[in-house]
Amino acid sequence: MAQYDYDLFVIGAGSGGVRASRISAGYGARVGICEESRVGGTCVIRGCVPKKLMVYAAHFHEDFEDARGFGWTVGESRFDWPTLIANKDKEIDRLNGVYKSLLSNAGVELFETRGELVDAHTVRLGDREVTADKILLAVGGWPSAPAFPGVELGITSNEVFHLPTQPKRVVVYGGGYIAVEFAGIFQGMGSQVTQVYRGPSLLRGFDQDVRDTLTTEIQKKGINVALSRTISRAEKHDGALRITLDDGTTIDTDLLLLATGRAPKISHLGLERVGVETNSDGAVVVDDYSQTSVENIFAVGDVTNRVNLTPVALMEGQAFAQTQFGDMPTPVDHKYIPSAVFSQPPVGSVGLTEDEARSEYGDIEVYQSSFRPMKHTLSGRDERTMMKLIVAADSQQVVGLHIVGLDAAEMLQGFSVAIKMGATKAQFDATIGIHPTAAEELVTMRTPRD
Ligand code: NDP
Repeated sequence: MAQYDYDLFVIGAGSGGVRASRISAGYGARVGICEESRVGGTCVIRGCVPKKLMVYAAHFHEDFEDARGFGWTVGESRFDWPTLIANKDKEIDRLNGVYKSLLSNAGVELFETRGELVDAHTVRLGDREVTADKILLAVGGWPSAPAFPGVELGITSNEVFHLPTQPKRVVVYGGGYIAVEFAGIFQGMGSQVTQVYRGPSLLRGFDQDVRDTLTTEIQKKGINVALSRTISRAEKHDGALRITLDDGTTIDTDLLLLATGRAPKISHLGLERVGVETNSDGAVVVDDYSQTSVENIFAVGDVTNRVNLTPVALMEGQAFAQTQFGDMPTPVDHKYIPSAVFSQPPVGSVGLTEDEARSEYGDIEVYQSSFRPMKHTLSGRDERTMMKLIVAADSQQVVGLHIVGLDAAEMLQGFSVAIKMGATKAQFDATIGIHPTAAEELVTMRTPRD
């Protein structure tokens, strides 16, 4: 008789946990998984997927306006928030069902309850306990907010998908992924948006030209961006909220969205009891094979705070399963991860920023271009696209590629393959462009910037 109930028990059925459990089961492992919320995790239930649907919804606003320059007369348009929310909820329910089927078709046993470590081989699920040879922590992250008086009056990305009505005025706090994406969503839907960010330009960590371009472009769209500012307090005022900034400015608003980062969701997981090491950010410390300080316990995805993106969690979950159950030791690979920000306009980025490349390689060449996308020659919209290639001078390898502009995310995926393969500038140049596209610019940049 087997020593344990399962070969693998996974805590958390988000992107990383579901991928790891399905692939492990495919290798013949007996797998159980638990989830306290809804199967699918942050990305499917309250992140990437509903967000992207809302980005589409928001963009129609500009599409209707832009159509005029092409000869279209568009009748009076009106946006109905409850319709969007109901349709979005239906799609999320469908995907939740798809994820459950994926698990059951793979033979993974699902427990729709919270899991907590009792010891290195035992997980408590409500009033019962199960044992497993290996345990995988895939519990993800959770929104975090700075402490200021009235912070509880704000909502986070967990709640923003379920607002019953559209707020007329919105204050978004933060300058990262979620903040710029929701500032664009609300602005596109017609809300009046103020974005408050503590730094001098949005999207810290991205290439400086990306940051500057996006900050300028979203200001042009009418978002009021309060840079180098923090929120000192929030209070109820006249049936709405009054936000006071650190310079004493006040903003009256109907909604305060706190998009000030996410933290690993480790509370009450039993990590201390079992001796799983965490770092000062509360992230579970793992090695290249996602193994924690306890030999049979592993962790993937946002709870490890490596690169907090769904496709990265999928890769980590896959590598874990291959290593532990597929007899194919596979270290995680975090080099050249492309990422997109679904701001308006969107951002796509892979590889090193100019500053990072300069400190890593010293001598670099930068190719940069800023232009009005063809669509806007007739739409008349004042929106520019910025593209940038960063090349290591000695090897001529393209080590960074950055885009701000229409279709940035779609363009970036294919170029990321070339960059991951180590393509050189000469290989970019030898590639024939597709005309007329914006992407052709990336294979026709001939003169480095000074
Ligand atoms: P980010 O880390 O991207 O942004 C957090 C923002 O909050 C930053 O602007 C940060 O400022 C600011 N902030 C943090 N602490 C404070 C504070 N104490 N006071 C004031 N401001 C503060 O986190 P998000 O919550 O936007 O997103 C979480 C993660 O989820 C992202 O990092 C990304 O990995 C992932 N994600 C990916 C998406 C995608 O792929 N399109 C979409 C959404 C999320 P500063 O920059 O100065 O530190």
